[in-house]
Amino acid sequence: MRCAIQTGVLSLAALSISAPLFAQNDLDQRINREADSLLATYKHLHENPELSAQERETSALLAADLRKSGYEVTDHFGQYAEPDLDAYGVVAVLRNGPGPAVYVRTDMDALPIIENTGLPYASRVKVARAGGDEVGVMHACGHDLHMTVFLGTARLLAQLQDRWSGTVVLIGQPAEETVRGAQAMLRAGLFTKFPRPDYVLALHDTSAVPAGKVSWHAGPLLAGADSVDITVRGYGGHGAAPQAGKDPIVIASEIVVALQTIVSREMDPQLPTVVTVGSFHAGTKHNIIPDEAHLQLTVRTMNPQQREKVLAAISRITNGLAAAAGVPAERAPIVEVAQDHVPATINNPELTRRVAASLERALGKENVLPGEPIMASEDFSLFALEDPRPPTSMFWLGAADPAKLKDAMEKGTRLPGPHSSEFAPLPDPAIRTGVKAMTSAVMDLLKK
Ligand SMILES: [Zn+2]
Ligand SMILES: [Zn+2]
Repeated sequence: MRCAIQTGVLSLAALSISAPLFAQNDLDQRINREADSLLATYKHLHENPELSAQERETSALLAADLRKSGYEVTDHFGQYAEPDLDAYGVVAVLRNGPGPAVYVRTDMDALPIIENTGLPYASRVKVARAGGDEVGVMHACGHDLHMTVFLGTARLLAQLQDRWSGTVVLIGQPAEETVRGAQAMLRAGLFTKFPRPDYVLALHDTSAVPAGKVSWHAGPLLAGADSVDITVRGYGGHGAAPQAGKDPIVIASEIVVALQTIVSREMDPQLPTVVTVGSFHAGTKHNIIPDEAHLQLTVRTMNPQQREKVLAAISRITNGLAAAAGVPAERAPIVEVAQDHVPATINNPELTRRVAASLERALGKENVLPGEPIMASEDFSLFALEDPRPPTSMFWLGAADPAKLKDAMEKGTRLPGPHSSEFAPLPDPAIRTGVKAMTSAVMDLLKK
């Protein structure tokens, strides 16, 4: 009896000084109740990955779970440029009174990688590729983790409707890895057929932050990406008679070396830029000078002006070196910039700071770290550029096993990260942390 009275007094005292703490404890309890089911979902998704634009079962799982949570769900949403390709986008809406509309996006696709983690729930999925060869499929970018957090967030937001007012729109986006899925959903009218977005949020896992923590960065977070194809054209002939031809291998080699000066000599050192020649193919035999050499480049930039400057420099250097070698204008190199450009992902500073404050309140300051931009790319950037151009923000979700990360940092060794066949996120506590972080961020934006 005495105990009971004391507990009552303590609770009241705690309530009067720290109501948000109680709200957080309530979140933790709700997450605890969902944790087993979410972990099972994570393992199922991890074992059953699907490649970009093939997310049939994955999207069906998401749609069913969201319907069960009480959302109004539209599936098979999206429209690729190729009319015969099915888009597996999922859009789930929960209307809960007046207020802004907050979008939360997860990606759903996996990568063509043979998993090498040795985990009991490792993927053994293999699929045939166009050429007939088999390739492994693996959630090596952690989109399975993103989806699990997304479903947990959906459940909590549905349970806690008395604590927020507004509209939540949850989107399962296909084909992120091929940077076509966001475009497909926007082309199909995402922002006009569903509530007009006021904010768009996302998270991405990272092996640079321990599971249990998150990190954030306002401003540019991820680079813009371009693929460039260069065909260097010369005149082929006998390898023993170089004077009779124009050797495209030598010209292309000079181009590869000269392209390095774009980053080192032309660009502002304060602004990160990448020009990588990832493929160089030419010739068939020792003693034949080929007619052509082919280069494939990836270019990473942080803003449109920088992008224009780099692309112009690539053309100028390529054409200049071919001309210097005496290649006539009619055999000038062909420089093609592929259509699959994605712009840089820029975190809206004001929204990002608001979200960061929510993260700190939810997780504690010690679990919210300053984040770093990286030169990888994402088509999440496209949501910020579509009318009504909503503010967007993505934060990093720690996924690394804290002990392994500490060990790797102390020894200066490598910890496998996204896109590695050995990337193995620590699902618990990463899932709990992600759900708590995203739920809190959304509820704060939709505060009554
Ligand atoms: Zn990826
Ligand atoms: Zn990813």
